[in-house]
Amino acid sequence: MFRKDTFGRAWVLLSPERGLLPSDFGSVPEGPERSPLSPGSTAVREIASFGGDAGAPWSMRVVEYPHDAFTERGFVEEGDALFRFGPSAGYQELIVEHPDARQTLDRMPRSHLVDVLRLYRDRVALHGDRPGVRHVQLTRNVGRAAGALFDHPHAHLLALPVPNRWLEEETEAGRQHHEAHGTCLFCDVIARELELRERVVTANEGFVALAPFAARTPFETWVLPRRHGSSFAAVAANHLPLLADILQGVLRALNYALDRPPYNMALHTVPGAERPYFHWHFEVLPRLTTQAGYDWGAGFYVNPTPPEDAARFLREALALQEVAG
Ligand SMILES: [Zn+2]
Ligand SMILES: [Zn+2]
Repeated sequence: MFRKDTFGRAWVLLSPERGLLPSDFGSVPEGPERSPLSPGSTAVREIASFGGDAGAPWSMRVVEYPHDAFTERGFVEEGDALFRFGPSAGYQELIVEHPDARQTLDRMPRSHLVDVLRLYRDRVALHGDRPGVRHVQLTRNVGRAAGALFDHPHAHLLALPVPNRWLEEETEAGRQHHEAHGTCLFCDVIARELELRERVVTANEGFVALAPFAARTPFETWVLPRRHGSSFAAVAANHLPLLADILQGVLRALNYALDRPPYNMALHTVPGAERPYFHWHFEVLPRLTTQAGYDWGAGFYVNPTPPEDAARFLREALALQEVAG
């Protein structure tokens, strides 16, 4: 079956007959006890640190990205109709989420994850307000197969003068829907999904986690706020514990069901004033298979796991996990 991506231009071919091949990447192995991001390490330069007690000098910190490519701050586009260019301008940093190199997002105490999410929000807001920044990107890569630079739990933040292609597509889909119907595309999808319950993984009063209708990869999962908002920088502090719960639920389900796969997680948000046609969210993409060559050549995605099956599998994993305590 072909399905059109609700939020983009691509079509996805769901092909359960192709079957989910055994993972090409296996599980994320437990890393060493210390890393270049550990307390006391001089491998990275600190920008700011927070908390701390007798056990560690900080509970979270922000450090410079090693080998930062963004040497300039101002961006002026040059060139002509054929060739456009500008200096490598922007901001880049790592958010070290915990002093313990072996801690993980799904296992850390909920109160600590709430602090981490608040720090995400504050850094996203800080960089989004900088002059010339058009896009703030926060990603987490877990496992070397997912491109992680360190085993230590961390997020990578980029603030850039150039737009992000996927966000542009989502924004455009949202704008068209808003023009045609006067409503937010994401809010409408959330309402429909909560009615159908086929692709919902878990939900609470503040957030919903679901497998998108045209999931591009097996077990792609999105986490969206139920209340409309285009900017993560404006999320209310009292919603962060609910977000922590849903993120831990999703990651525990994925880790339980798929045996700790490498994964990528990205925050999609837009800086500046609130917009009625965009709705911030997190996308979680487990790395299970190498994308077959023809997927790229064809310009569409081939996904062997229908999102309804993925969501059911994750709901069951969550229930089993809760019983196991
Ligand atoms: Zn919305
Ligand atoms: Zn998105």
